[in-house]
Amino acid sequence: MKFKRVRGVKDILPEEVEKINFVVDICRKTVDTFGFKEVVLPVLEKIELYQHSIGETTDIVEKQMFKIVARAENETETIVLRPEGTAGIVRMFVENNLKDKYPLKRFFYFGPMFRYERPQKARYREFYQFGVEIFAEAPPSSDFLLIKIANIIFEKLNIKVELEINSIGCVNCRKEYIVELKKELKKSNELLCDVCKNRLERNPLRVFDCKTDVDKIAKLSEKVSLQKYICDSCKKNFDDLITILDENKIRYKIVPTLVRGLDYYNGVVFEYKTQLLDAAQNTICAGGRYDRLISELEPQVKYACGLAFGINRIVEILPKYEKKVESIKVGVAVVDERFLLPSFSIINKLLEKKDVQIVGPFSQKSLKAQLRLFNNENCKYVLIVGEEVKESKVVIKNFFDNIQQTIELKDLEKYII
Ligand SMILES: [Zn+2]
Ligand SMILES: [Zn+2]
Repeated sequence: MKFKRVRGVKDILPEEVEKINFVVDICRKTVDTFGFKEVVLPVLEKIELYQHSIGETTDIVEKQMFKIVARAENETETIVLRPEGTAGIVRMFVENNLKDKYPLKRFFYFGPMFRYERPQKARYREFYQFGVEIFAEAPPSSDFLLIKIANIIFEKLNIKVELEINSIGCVNCRKEYIVELKKELKKSNELLCDVCKNRLERNPLRVFDCKTDVDKIAKLSEKVSLQKYICDSCKKNFDDLITILDENKIRYKIVPTLVRGLDYYNGVVFEYKTQLLDAAQNTICAGGRYDRLISELEPQVKYACGLAFGINRIVEILPKYEKKVESIKVGVAVVDERFLLPSFSIINKLLEKKDVQIVGPFSQKSLKAQLRLFNNENCKYVLIVGEEVKESKVVIKNFFDNIQQTIELKDLEKYII
């Protein structure tokens, strides 16, 4: 019988894991500089969390969630595999009262997310995100910190990116805008796709997520631009950030159609894009503010913002990475099975003294086969454990200069350099 992996998920082999670790190490070191603390979020959350925070009419909640219906006694509960990290960290923040526990409320996480989407290149149903969230810090300094962090990370990774930025306003500035948007959408109702016809009534802002009518929607956004309705405080926050970006010579592009496909955002939102991936999946980092969501769930906290990196996509376009420095490899061969036990005690003693990587010993392999394997594995030394061990001696061979000698076991560590 042959088993195949589930559609849309990925086996990650050692070479790729090494790249992932390289990227995540850089992310970790960078956010560490700014006092962020790591948290581990559960993969499973209740469905209501996402319905409430991401929004019922979003693509994620409407069609992309992996659901598990759990039955206990006479109750059923729907649990989902987390589709993103922000909703979960907000829940964690409130449930654990983190606002009182940490003076600096800056957190980060890394782990897999799950979305039931059509699988394609650089888009998987299980994918990894590295995310950072800042609570209780007002704009524009907290927005700028997020952008600064992303810029530092992309620079360290040597990846060219384009920053796109927009303000989607707050509840106040959106009220009037949504009325206008609805009017305009109704005029061209027959031109809209079926999904958007439904969105028009329930959550008109979501038509900007349309994948079918990209051009039409872009024209529409020129006609009824949110920027015209933006309130004074939202405008100030956005302009202040833009000024800081200019002062810091950070390049950006203001994109009025950028709304992010999640309801919890307000104010500044942004995306980092790369030209190295196809347009449908070229966003490799995205974020924004969600002050309304946090203050609704934790009224004493008025501000929150965050961003997340798509680690799989970043790895896909990573130009180069530093391989982990490996410690010296030592092969341990046995002349025959009788010497297995003494070889284990030699290994134990060696590991106490030296930071080395041990390969072997192997049962039921000829000495020749063992030596061939050690050579292919790039071992620097091989210890051949045989009759000599009875006199507390061992044969050591240096694969690099091909010198072989019999030495006293007590001197072993001196020979491994
Ligand atoms: Zn506003
Ligand atoms: Zn549509």
